[in-house]
Amino acid sequence: MGVFALPTDRAPVAPDFLVSLSARFGAQAQSSEAVRRQHGSSEAHFAAVLPDAVVYARSTDDVVDLVRLCTSAGVPIVAFGAGTSIEGNALPIHGGVSLDMSEMNAVLAVNAGDFDCTVQAGCRREELNEYLRDTGLFFPIDPGANATIGGMASTRASGTNAVRYGTMREAVMSLKVVTPQGEVITTSRRARKSAAGYDLTRLYVGSEGTLGIITEVTLRLHPIPETISAAVCGFESLQGAVDTVVQAIQLSVPLARVEILDDMQIRACNQWSKLDLPEVTTLFFEFHGTPAGVAEQIATVEELAKANGGGDFRWASTVEERSRLWKARHEAYYAAVNLRPGAVGWSTDVCVPISRLPECILATKADLATATLPATILGHVGDGNFHVIFSIDPANPNDMVEAEAINARLIERALEMDGTCTGEHGIGIGKQDWLEEELGDAIDVMRTLKRAMDPQNLFNPGKIFSL
Ligand SMILES: Cc1cc2nc3c(=O)[nH]c(=O)nc-3n(C[C@H](O)[C@H](O)[C@H](O)COP(=O)(O)OP(=O)(O)OC[C@H]3O[C@@H](n4cnc5c(N)ncnc54)[C@H](O)[C@@H]3O)c2cc1C
Repeated sequence: MGVFALPTDRAPVAPDFLVSLSARFGAQAQSSEAVRRQHGSSEAHFAAVLPDAVVYARSTDDVVDLVRLCTSAGVPIVAFGAGTSIEGNALPIHGGVSLDMSEMNAVLAVNAGDFDCTVQAGCRREELNEYLRDTGLFFPIDPGANATIGGMASTRASGTNAVRYGTMREAVMSLKVVTPQGEVITTSRRARKSAAGYDLTRLYVGSEGTLGIITEVTLRLHPIPETISAAVCGFESLQGAVDTVVQAIQLSVPLARVEILDDMQIRACNQWSKLDLPEVTTLFFEFHGTPAGVAEQIATVEELAKANGGGDFRWASTVEERSRLWKARHEAYYAAVNLRPGAVGWSTDVCVPISRLPECILATKADLATATLPATILGHVGDGNFHVIFSIDPANPNDMVEAEAINARLIERALEMDGTCTGEHGIGIGKQDWLEEELGDAIDVMRTLKRAMDPQNLFNPGKIFSL
């Protein structure tokens, strides 16, 4: 259930169009209320908005044919991966066809010697890692949800490993894309570097389906580390925890993961994931490397933590314990939202230069102290990126008002620090005004690109910025 109303202006598609969809796609085209609702709802606080039809693509040719049908009929087309984005990114706010990519989920090639692979866009990150397990390689980008690679590329996603391995910006080497003209292009070859013309790969990464449909993705992979150690450490203060992270980054400790969970978030995780952690601000760490390298990283971080009011490190010594810990971290969003039964979630997403992180996070915590609705802080602090998760009662309009006010103050704070309103979730519907404030005239260049590439404005219209 969503609580944030969406625009309702949309022209219904002509019955002839639905007939031509059925003629070309048969059972791959569906228009039942249940299927349309599944594709018109999101994980977050937005009201549902249903597409006119859903088409399940099975090949790039399917996508080409759908694009041609939609552009000749003037019908919007909104790509749908796993539907886990949380800024309303995949909601078909102007109706049209939701193009479900989940059946295009094959791993097409693994080039172990080159540390890369090519997958269809609907392949999910967990299935890719399952497939890769015997190769000694892994794909590190891990948003909390089991998202598709195409969706992750389109939102420029990251996750807990970004501090060491980067985001989708670094992970994507090349894309196969169906353009709004129905042409199939490949944005790059597999060479580790290239200076060949405009960097279309980077243009499509983060474009949220507004410039075309990605059907294949070539990804950079990494060797599974020889040693992996994970631990949690509670702190006397939020300041001490954040200072530990900033100092470790400034000392160039190659942390693989470092996540902060404030006292409220730990309480939520204890309840949701049946943990028994002390309810204080806590850092979750993971160290990757050779045995000697990991031992050195641990010694440095333990010393920093101690100097900043950290307690003893609690180690996850078995693979099962480590998985349990990170599963709890990945479910932290649901844990926070469910602090109140029946609540709706809203996650903020600022990211600031690392030296400004302590100031930003402490001011935010002070702001939350006066809030009447439950809210937690958690985040990928090694990148300067953290989330406030609001647990919103849909029956209480004041909750939305209060959350909006806190979010506005938080983004203003981050922008003053030369940060961004979104470290990883994208703009979607929810952050368009903030994008204007963040990038100003640069949005006009984005509009020029959008108009040139999608002159009918049919690809995920109404997202990122208005035209
Ligand atoms: C519990 C939870 C935790 C999360 N944690 C994180 C996190 O740590 N980091 C993070 O970055 N995100 C996180 N997210 C958000 C979400 O998982 C990411 O935004 C993810 O990248 C969305 O992928 P998806 O496959 O679900 O895409 P969707 O939600 O289906 O689509 C996202 C956008 O991409 C477009 N799109 C999808 N597929 C294609 C395609 N093939 N071609 C062109 N456009 C396409 C859609 O139109 C839409 O604009 C979290 C979400 C949840 C629910």
